[in-house]
This record gives sequence, structure tokens and C-alpha cells, in this order.
Amino acid sequence: MHEAEDLYQEMILDHYRRPRNRRAMETADAFAEGYNPLCGDRVKVYVQVEDGIVKDVSFQGAGCAISTASASLMTESIRGKSLEQARALFNRFHGLITGEPAENGAPELGKLEVFSGVGKYPARVKCATLVWHTVNAALENRKETVTTE
Ligand code: ZN
Repeated sequence: MHEAEDLYQEMILDHYRRPRNRRAMETADAFAEGYNPLCGDRVKVYVQVEDGIVKDVSFQGAGCAISTASASLMTESIRGKSLEQARALFNRFHGLITGEPAENGAPELGKLEVFSGVGKYPARVKCATLVWHTVNAALENRKETVTTE
């Protein structure tokens, strides 16, 4: 296996075993729930937004390694970002997973690059993007459960 892929896999497993920001948030301004029936992943995302900035973000839920690691890395990636930056990151992340090239001015993905290989496994795409659709719903204050179907 390619060295970078090895490293990516290790990071995904690390975030799966020790997810960051997996906790309920009592001070949340909004939350949303997501469900991926294809794999059985369930996630609940909490957000706290102040002056258009994501002050805090956390999640709870159970899912496969990819969905859990994606949730963990998502929280690390969007904390401190503006709503606009968070949305741009989501769009770029979605592009990475579905194999679209980055547009000019697209944000750097940083650690989220670890999911670049997921596109090769179509069944896993929804696992990786579920939490992003869910946080998007929370940020837009939509109450319905997001499903990937
Ligand atoms: Zn999954």
C-alpha cells in the first residue's frame, strides 16, 4: 500500500478510537441529527454560534470507523470558522470525496485530506459526508433528521 494511504488510514483509526469533541453540549444554539441507513450510522451534531463564528461544535452517535472519524475531524476543522468558511469547507470536502477538482479560492482541507481515498469506495462516501450534511443542517437551524438517502 502507498505510504500516504497508510498514514491516512492510521489517522482515521486514531480518530475512530479516540474521537475528539464527542459529547453533548448543553449550551448549544442548535443541533441536527443525521442517519445513514445504508450503513446504520447515526450522528447528532451540536453547534454554538456567536457573531457568525462557530464557537463550539460537538457530536454524539454511533457509526462505522469512517463516519466517526469524519465527525471527529469535522469538529476540529470548523471550530473557529465563520459560517461562510464552514460552508466552503463542506463544499470542498464534498468535492474531494466525489472526485471533483478544487476550484480557485477553495479552502485548504488540511487533515481532511485523509478522506481522499474514500471516493474509491462508493458505499463509504455517505459515511464520510453524513456528519457534514448534518452540521450544515444544524448551522441552518433545520430541525428535520438528515438522511443520506
Ligand atoms: Zn458508515
